[in-house]
Amino acid sequence: MSKLCGTIKHISYEDSLKYLTSHPYILTTNLTAKSTPHSPVLISKTMFEKYHKDEVYNRSNRDIGVWQGSFLTAYLIGLALLSGISKLTKTLYFRSLGTRSLAKPSKFMLLLQKYISFPALFGYIHAKKFVIFGVQITFPTRMESLGIFGYCALYIIFATTHYFGISDNNFIYGKKKLELLRFIADRTGIMATVQLPILTLFALRNNFLLYLSGWSFSTFNAYHRSVSRMFYLSVIVHATVFHGYYLYNSSIASFFKADYYWSGVCAIGSFGIAIGAASFRHYFYDVFLIIHVVFVLLALVMAILHISDMGYIQAVYLTFAFWAMDWLLRFCNIMRINISLFSGRNNKIKSTRAEMSVVGDQIVMNIDTPLEWKVKPGQYVFVYIASLNPWECHPFSPITSDDSNHSFKLVTKIQNGLTKKLARRLAKSQSPATYKVAIEGPYGETAPVERYDSSILIAGGAGITGVLPYAEKLSKMDIQQHTQFIWTTRHLDSVKIISKPLQDIMASGRVEVKIYVSEESMPVLYNQNKEKVSSEVSSFSDSSTDLCDTILGSITFGARPDIPQLISSNFEQATGSIAILSCGPGDMMDSIREQICTDLDKVKNGRVEYFEHAFNW
Ligand SMILES: Cc1cc2nc3c(=O)[nH]c(=O)nc-3n(C[C@H](O)[C@H](O)[C@H](O)COP(=O)(O)OP(=O)(O)OC[C@H]3O[C@@H](n4cnc5c(N)ncnc54)[C@H](O)[C@@H]3O)c2cc1C
Repeated sequence: MSKLCGTIKHISYEDSLKYLTSHPYILTTNLTAKSTPHSPVLISKTMFEKYHKDEVYNRSNRDIGVWQGSFLTAYLIGLALLSGISKLTKTLYFRSLGTRSLAKPSKFMLLLQKYISFPALFGYIHAKKFVIFGVQITFPTRMESLGIFGYCALYIIFATTHYFGISDNNFIYGKKKLELLRFIADRTGIMATVQLPILTLFALRNNFLLYLSGWSFSTFNAYHRSVSRMFYLSVIVHATVFHGYYLYNSSIASFFKADYYWSGVCAIGSFGIAIGAASFRHYFYDVFLIIHVVFVLLALVMAILHISDMGYIQAVYLTFAFWAMDWLLRFCNIMRINISLFSGRNNKIKSTRAEMSVVGDQIVMNIDTPLEWKVKPGQYVFVYIASLNPWECHPFSPITSDDSNHSFKLVTKIQNGLTKKLARRLAKSQSPATYKVAIEGPYGETAPVERYDSSILIAGGAGITGVLPYAEKLSKMDIQQHTQFIWTTRHLDSVKIISKPLQDIMASGRVEVKIYVSEESMPVLYNQNKEKVSSEVSSFSDSSTDLCDTILGSITFGARPDIPQLISSNFEQATGSIAILSCGPGDMMDSIREQICTDLDKVKNGRVEYFEHAFNW
């Protein structure tokens, strides 16, 4: 205890007395209300013990806050590690089997998957944008919600229980009510401070728990948001109860004058702005990010001023350390990928550049990095465009390039922010235009779809970038798997952009490819025999990307796939385990989630797993 809250020496009354009398101290015994003692005061043994006990209670009540805050952190780390251990065990088990047959789970595990692992908090809305009063809300999955609920419940229990030693005639606080108010204010403030490092770590790109847990960044984000809400609630209770304490104590005037009061007010205000900015995150992501970062930094500095005389400052230092580590690693990563002092890749380039062109409603970027690059499924990179907004970086999923001179390709749907600005700039320049860019990454985990007896890869629109690398990987693997690759897109241009990898996938004969071009009808571009009658409709002028017959043969025009029906029939006919992987619009991914839950029991002999490569956090 004494180590956490300063130094409290456990020395008995008798020993103190012996010490003082054996040393040349004169003990004051005849104190009056007005006199100022100039020598140690002799108090009775009863008083000494009472005072000592009250001080021990006072400090212990604060120390409990530190332990409880640390337990909450351990709880979150424990959940992450549990997930990591479970994933590692599955991998080792799979390797030891040496086969892809993942047995059907027990009835209990099936129920767990159906009602806990796969659904979202309320029904199936998880990836879809859900707006209430203009604020976009993201619902976590039910599994994430359980972990979050456990955290919130523990937080409330810890903040409201286990206050001990509260009594009237207290030496420090006098009245029982006052003492309790003080303890609650201290506890909620201390618990909140202790949460700062884990709260920050969960939002960082280089969060080491990402690798240990196997959780996606969006799962960490879900926890980050919930932990921050509990943190802020705790801070508000801390401030409110402190006001009550000083009002009750009749010393509110001196409270308002204290430095720690104003630093505390600034910290709460800044945290409030940082958290509140999240309400327009989906509309102005980059504005949100700048406000969030600036105000969190300001709040942390204010927090240091607020608690500098009280202890607990180590928690804020650790928070800064995590953050600084992340920035340093990001900086090193950017330097390593994008700058070559000597030859660069193939003796050609010394810094990263992107050859960009607009194709329909998408921008295609062929990226060249000095560093050798191999695209892996599940990865994403952040792109900085120096000549636009150098401080903005946007995540995109790389796909392999058609041309070995390029490191990889990015296909980005034109949205309303940076991508729109870039598209306008490109429209004014000669196509393709070359820009200096910087790449950060790669981040992201590969889902182990190859372990399953069959896999269904479903992409919607620009979500093809999240799915295509899996189809490519499976098409090159010598495994006995029935692989289906379904992609629905609005325009044929999108198909042309990836015609080369599509062709290779189809040529392997290992992947069944079905493409749906929903907003173009075949007769416009092709005659009944799917022979090309016009090339004018396409804005994608590169003749090398004309579609071969094999690809054309796999396209259905003017229609969308019936994904629920597809899942249902696959589950009914399945003879072993199935992996479903999807990336695309929120509605599509949520309907897949729902259908998997509905039909889970239909799979007779194997395990079902759902992997989502989400484009929203
Ligand atoms: C892991 C991941 C991989 C992605 N891969 C691709 C891809 O391969 N192809 C593709 O077209 N899109 C991809 N996206 C989506 C892409 O990042 C956004 O569409 C893009 O950043 C929008 O930029 P904007 O400024 O034009 O968008 P805005 O019109 O400002 O916003 C559109 C949407 O994108 C989100 N968004 C904006 N900026 C960011 C950001 N910096 N980080 C996260 N989300 C942001 C907004 O919250 C909003 O929901 C991916 C997203 C993620 C999270």
